[in-house]
Amino acid sequence: MSKPIYLSLACMGGEEQKYIQEAFDTNWVVPLGPNVSAFEESLSNYLNSNLYTVALSSGTAALHLALVQLGIKNEDEVICQSFTFAASTNPIMYQHATPVFVDSEEDTWNISPTFLKQAIKDRISKTGKTPKAIIPVHLYGMPAKMKEIIQIAAEYNIPIIEDAAEALGSVYKEQKCGTFGTFAALSFNGNKIITTSGGGALVCQTKEQAQKIIFYATQARDPAPYYQHSQIGYNYRMSNICAGIGRGQMLVLDKFIARRRAIHAYYTEYFKNIEGITVKQNPSPDYNSNFWLTCILIDPEKTGFTPEDARIFLESKNIETRPLWKPMHL
Ligand SMILES: *Cc1c(COP(=O)(O)O)cnc(C)c1O
Repeated sequence: MSKPIYLSLACMGGEEQKYIQEAFDTNWVVPLGPNVSAFEESLSNYLNSNLYTVALSSGTAALHLALVQLGIKNEDEVICQSFTFAASTNPIMYQHATPVFVDSEEDTWNISPTFLKQAIKDRISKTGKTPKAIIPVHLYGMPAKMKEIIQIAAEYNIPIIEDAAEALGSVYKEQKCGTFGTFAALSFNGNKIITTSGGGALVCQTKEQAQKIIFYATQARDPAPYYQHSQIGYNYRMSNICAGIGRGQMLVLDKFIARRRAIHAYYTEYFKNIEGITVKQNPSPDYNSNFWLTCILIDPEKTGFTPEDARIFLESKNIETRPLWKPMHL
């Protein structure tokens, strides 16, 4: 059997162990420390140095704390892109709120601004209440139509929680994904474009917001000499060991993005003359996906095989593929 080819493997740049060693040498083997601060700073500098990044235990935790900070609770509604990974939506359920799923548009496969507006109007007319947040996703690294989404959100005064878990390095209209929302979640899970073995971050617009997120992420302890907690807290901070991996990964992020884009370009060329197979592309020069994963559509009538046939065949050759995400409303 040939060497297995996986969809998206962790790949180390070389400097990671140096930062981990530093953590051991200085006994910062805890969920805070110099690597955490340096990793956060490096992420903020990469995205937009006016923003504040808080390193957390996962991308899911980042989405969850954004909802917590926005005060989303029981009986609130949160609009979410239906075509996404379950982790975009699960945190809505953690807060006992109700997700309202909105369909995608063809250009980007992300939340349709037209349907988004319809959904907001529909919920207001049926419940008398405005949804409390909007979660657009940059799926597979492809930027959502953020300018339109932001405009609609502003019209109804609804905060945006950008799910940029798959889109570190993607750019839309010369602005990096992860910098558009009131909050933006990043993921450094093992399969993402860079990894901390497991981890995530929440990008915040202000220092006060970031401080509040750290408060929630470290058990929400009140400033008192004894242990007092007047709010529910979480244990969601990133460890200084994981952040060491993150620091090393930041040094190779640009290289990894270039590599993912090159893989996408390879498939684009490869499938160019094969009828019935379409490789998902940036819809216009406004978009520059990191192409975290390369996606293809298969038309069984033209190719004579279904996506599942292709998956099983490739699996027999030790090559991993997977179907696109199953939409959440299904
Ligand atoms: C990976 C991912 C998440 C969750 O990130 P974790 O770090 O695995 O918790 C959320 N949303 C999307 C779209 C993802 O791909």
